[in-house]
Amino acid sequence: MVPVNDFRETLRGTLILPHDKGYHEARAVWNGTIDRHPAVITKCAGTSDVITAVNFAREHGLEIAVRGGGHNVAGTAVCDDGIVIDLSAMRAVWVDPRARTARVQGGALWSDVDHETQAHGLATTGGIVSHTGVAGLTLGGGIGWLMRKHGLTADNLLSADVVTADGKFIRASDDEHSDLFWALRGGGGNFGIVTSFEFALHPVGPTVLAGPVFWAADDTADVLRFYRDFARDAPDELGTVIRFGTIPPLPAVPEELHWRPAMAINTCYTGPVDEGEHVLRPLREHGTPLLDLVSPTPYLAHQGGLDSTVPHGWHYYWKSTNLPELSDDLIDVFVDHAYSAESPRSYSVIFHLGGAVRRVPDDATSYAGRHASHNININGVWRPDEDFAESDTEWTREFFDALEPHREGVYVNFLDADDGTQRVRESYSEDTYWRLAEIKTEYDPENVFHLNQNIEPTV
Ligand SMILES: Cc1cc2nc3c(=O)[nH]c(=O)nc-3n(C[C@H](O)[C@H](O)[C@H](O)COP(=O)(O)OP(=O)(O)OC[C@H]3O[C@@H](n4cnc5c(N)ncnc54)[C@H](O)[C@@H]3O)c2cc1C
Repeated sequence: MVPVNDFRETLRGTLILPHDKGYHEARAVWNGTIDRHPAVITKCAGTSDVITAVNFAREHGLEIAVRGGGHNVAGTAVCDDGIVIDLSAMRAVWVDPRARTARVQGGALWSDVDHETQAHGLATTGGIVSHTGVAGLTLGGGIGWLMRKHGLTADNLLSADVVTADGKFIRASDDEHSDLFWALRGGGGNFGIVTSFEFALHPVGPTVLAGPVFWAADDTADVLRFYRDFARDAPDELGTVIRFGTIPPLPAVPEELHWRPAMAINTCYTGPVDEGEHVLRPLREHGTPLLDLVSPTPYLAHQGGLDSTVPHGWHYYWKSTNLPELSDDLIDVFVDHAYSAESPRSYSVIFHLGGAVRRVPDDATSYAGRHASHNININGVWRPDEDFAESDTEWTREFFDALEPHREGVYVNFLDADDGTQRVRESYSEDTYWRLAEIKTEYDPENVFHLNQNIEPTV
């Protein structure tokens, strides 16, 4: 039993123990396959609580899990027996519209950031599902609709307030602790607990031309061959994400198309809408789309448009890799594997990278996938009451294995629990990995923060 009474007294936030009401809700994360039982959950109210919790954990030898949005598929935000330092009550966002910056607390979700920044017609690159946490996403790099125009989320980070493994509070930026600042932009949660992030913002929307176009699964090879050339010449204002799977029963989808196997190219054009109409026309007119939902849309609505398709508590199993341009061989792999999942909820998504992501020099941040053209994330998905665990885990692995000849590193934020340390190494170049390990040694020599995609200290 951990002696918590004095600890509880020193907190402004809440301490939740296994016998407390709300314990099971507080230990649940987005991926419903994760079922861990921490000894203590500290719902921090602010930086002071984070410092107190880190010191308490160290004094009592408790393993630490850090929770931002709780979305990591590997479930690293929760542990067995140790302490969860939970920032999910720290979701404030302060926007400075004149300076075009936002300061965002470490437990905020993208919906919080988008909501506040869009009030001023501003945004920064965030994830494509708005209930994802800002913290984990930013620290791994951050890919999303705006990245080809405005860079990764991490490229927009101006500074971060950090509580280190020894309970100290420091600010990392280009001017202070610049080594740590470099590491935070791709190296994940290894280096400390970020209590707030400062981001650069850009004029976006409030209306963008956005939405998916669907084609029958049988048209996949033809559409992808067209898309390959279309995407190569696309302006940076256009973000696209391909999706293979069945059509989700969203309100905008006619009932007769629900659950039909199909490929979709989801789009978001952030320049003027009429310009976007021109840019997107060839794509929308290619072949015989089943459904075209591209329309002028509030950026906020587009950011939340996929939220209901990946709810909290369903069971998820992921495999991911970065990919080069879509060769005919690669397209054959998609055609052979993308539609053979048994669960109608399983799908895969391909992000189109490039643009501003590629223009940032390799050594400017620790994110290491800048030269890849695409990233694929294969998602086995089933509800807890459905019996697809075995079949769709197998489907995910087989699809991933078939991509072996085309693989080019991996995005650290898409690694699942069984990917192991070798794939963490694959997320970085050799030089970047060892530089990260040195910075880890300086800021966290005892690997206090190790429940993450771990980079071990060199000693
Ligand atoms: C449905 C879904 C959609 C996604 N879409 C995208 C996308 O479009 N683009 C993209 O780039 N990624 C995307 N991701 C992946 C996402 O970036 C990772 O899952 C990320 O870890 C989520 O961050 P979180 O704060 O919600 O996670 P958590 O599970 O809370 O945290 C993950 C890890 O981050 C670290 N961490 C969390 N908070 C802090 C903090 N305050 N300080 C220091 N370390 C911290 C810890 O090591 C923790 O283990 C998506 C994930 C999901 C589930």
